[in-house]
Amino acid sequence: MEVLADIGEIRQRVLALRESGRRVGLVPTMGALHAGHRSLIEAAKARCDDVVVSIFVNPTQFGPGEDADRYPRTMDADLAVCRNTGVELVFLPSVEEMYANGATTSLRIGGLTEGLCGPHRPGHFEGVATVVTKLFNIVPADEAYFGEKDYQQLKVIQRMVRDFHIPIDIIPCPTVREPDGLAMSSRNVYLSPSERVQAGSLSQALRHAVARAGHGETDCRRLIDEATRHIEQAGPVRIDYVSIVNAESLEPMSVLDRPARMCLAVRIGACRLIDNMPLGA
Ligand code: AMP
Repeated sequence: MEVLADIGEIRQRVLALRESGRRVGLVPTMGALHAGHRSLIEAAKARCDDVVVSIFVNPTQFGPGEDADRYPRTMDADLAVCRNTGVELVFLPSVEEMYANGATTSLRIGGLTEGLCGPHRPGHFEGVATVVTKLFNIVPADEAYFGEKDYQQLKVIQRMVRDFHIPIDIIPCPTVREPDGLAMSSRNVYLSPSERVQAGSLSQALRHAVARAGHGETDCRRLIDEATRHIEQAGPVRIDYVSIVNAESLEPMSVLDRPARMCLAVRIGACRLIDNMPLGA
């Protein structure tokens, strides 16, 4: 496994691999790798000849009051995960390398970013879209792997690739969960033991909604109210949103009459958790 920090170098390596007929998969991450990231790498290994993992804590996607410096960093363990999963190349750039020469260009995705996390994290998706576009230009892979855990992010990236004719296939991967259902996240380390127990209520609320929808409930308001109540009963929280949205447009729905997603964002202590599950058809 090779670890590269230089944009020119990694691009040359990936271009050479592609020219020799090899299929290259890219897994973009912010490090602090866990089993969720590992599942993306394994999915890429299964379909591609060579896998590139990028590890970059992108400062431009942290909103006001969010501290990129506090984001967990576990570089040695991350490199061990990459080595153990058979990754060929790790791209590990510095902030200066990624945002050289006072870079001022950024990418705004309309529509999809107006709801859900958008209003709660101003500038977040612009930062994500910008850094992912940069990564796609730096690592010209055949495919890039993203988790459904960050469902709005996945939809934003799919739209961006479509709108900008970026020649890369986006491969969505299912959410990996802890035994109690909590979606794995690098931020879960911020939870105290009691908050960690409480955090199980998020996936329970989602699973309850999936079951109710499966038994024919189509009233979104009722499903949202039930999920909200379940989360609030588990302990002190600040709910940013519990929403049911069209699975493609991310527009809010009132009746479950097409493929939908229940999405939620909840603050427990110092930790902001997001999760989602598909509902209905
Ligand atoms: P992050 O390092 O949190 O920016 O995540 C990097 C990639 O891993 C993103 O595509 C995430 O959606 C994905 N990811 C994070 N957590 C999980 C999880 N629990 N299951 C599946 N994918 C995940």
